[in-house]
Amino acid sequence: MLNIEKIRKDFPILNQKINGKDYVYLDNGATTQKPVQLIDAVADFYRNTNSNIHRGVHHLSNLSTKLYEGARAKVQKFINAEKESEIIFTKGTTDSINLIAFSFGEKYVSEGDEIIVSAMEHHSNLVPWQMLCERKKARLRILPFDKNGELELDKLPALINEKTKLLAVTHVSNSLGTVNPVKEIIETAHQSNVPVLIDGAQSIQHQKIDVQALDCDFFVFSGHKIYAETGIGVLYAKEKYLNEMPPYQGGGDMVDHVTLEKTTYLDAPFKFEAGTVNYVGAYGLGLAIDYINTVGIENIATHEQELLKYATEKLSVIEGLTIYGTAKHKTATISFLLKNIHHYDTGMILDKLGIAVRTGSHCTQPVMDFFEISGTVRASFAFYNTFADVDRLVEGILKVKQMFE
Ligand code: PLP
Repeated sequence: MLNIEKIRKDFPILNQKINGKDYVYLDNGATTQKPVQLIDAVADFYRNTNSNIHRGVHHLSNLSTKLYEGARAKVQKFINAEKESEIIFTKGTTDSINLIAFSFGEKYVSEGDEIIVSAMEHHSNLVPWQMLCERKKARLRILPFDKNGELELDKLPALINEKTKLLAVTHVSNSLGTVNPVKEIIETAHQSNVPVLIDGAQSIQHQKIDVQALDCDFFVFSGHKIYAETGIGVLYAKEKYLNEMPPYQGGGDMVDHVTLEKTTYLDAPFKFEAGTVNYVGAYGLGLAIDYINTVGIENIATHEQELLKYATEKLSVIEGLTIYGTAKHKTATISFLLKNIHHYDTGMILDKLGIAVRTGSHCTQPVMDFFEISGTVRASFAFYNTFADVDRLVEGILKVKQMFE
């Protein structure tokens, strides 16, 4: 059992009034709040330690480097990668996917080849593949989902053929909350030797991730969605791909030897980390992982599933409220609409009541097109949310209804 009251003290941003009301933050799918342990440690880092990594002989540079590489080891352990060198620090999920789309695309994708994505992808796991297909004259194939927001897995085998070069799919839908059966998807793809990229932007903070057990070829996520800072993210890739993929960007810190004519590169991970990287962000990500490990990812998952159950029960009985995304396996994310009330209006009124939700298409316009809506209201929960937060949301929704009736 989590001591939520104690946990909430670690997140100072939650303990304030917004529009005169106790703040209820239900926009965790967009970004998560940061524990004071991380905020203080990062401030201390700038006060006492800051120095650029990898290129100094002096004391603080060595210390910075140690903390940066220490963070890589923490990420490796957290997702159970086989090797530290399989962890590349990036700017975030979007950056990681663009890196793969470029580097993997350069190496393995040619005219006439095919990439598979699902119809529920965040634009970050769709647009880079569309761009690659345009560049290489390749074809994007789409795995559909049904009205509950579940992938139509029976259609997957027919999409895979000898031209398929990669399958990229989200672990958890950010707009519907669906937890996709990625292990099964990976097994199916691997039967035809098709590598699989898992977009973990919405799963890493909610459940234990073991990339070796999943056997995924690529796994990506963002630091800011897992209680760390913005501008830091992770690309996990199996070593065999990292060895073969060309660098995404050129510059300092990724080179072995440079002459005016030719450059040789370092091995992964450095080959993919050109320039001054966000070493403070990486350090912070390591601290966020420490925090999660202290709370326990299993405890987080249990509490969030209880919140999901409670919130779904409470919201389902509100007349005129439709939930979008009713899959059997979900994270604590609820997308909904109130009959005849625009999602934007609902979000604005909830805000006046001190409740933060997200409205719009959530960067998944094809999902909205499928349901023939322009957007939803999305309440996305984290482990620091309480049952009282759910009650406040319900009260707020009833108020919105009342105002429009
Ligand atoms: N993929 C999913 C499923 C997401 O939810 C998000 C962000 O909301 C992204 C990718 C993009 O993440 P970022 O904006 O941190 O790069």
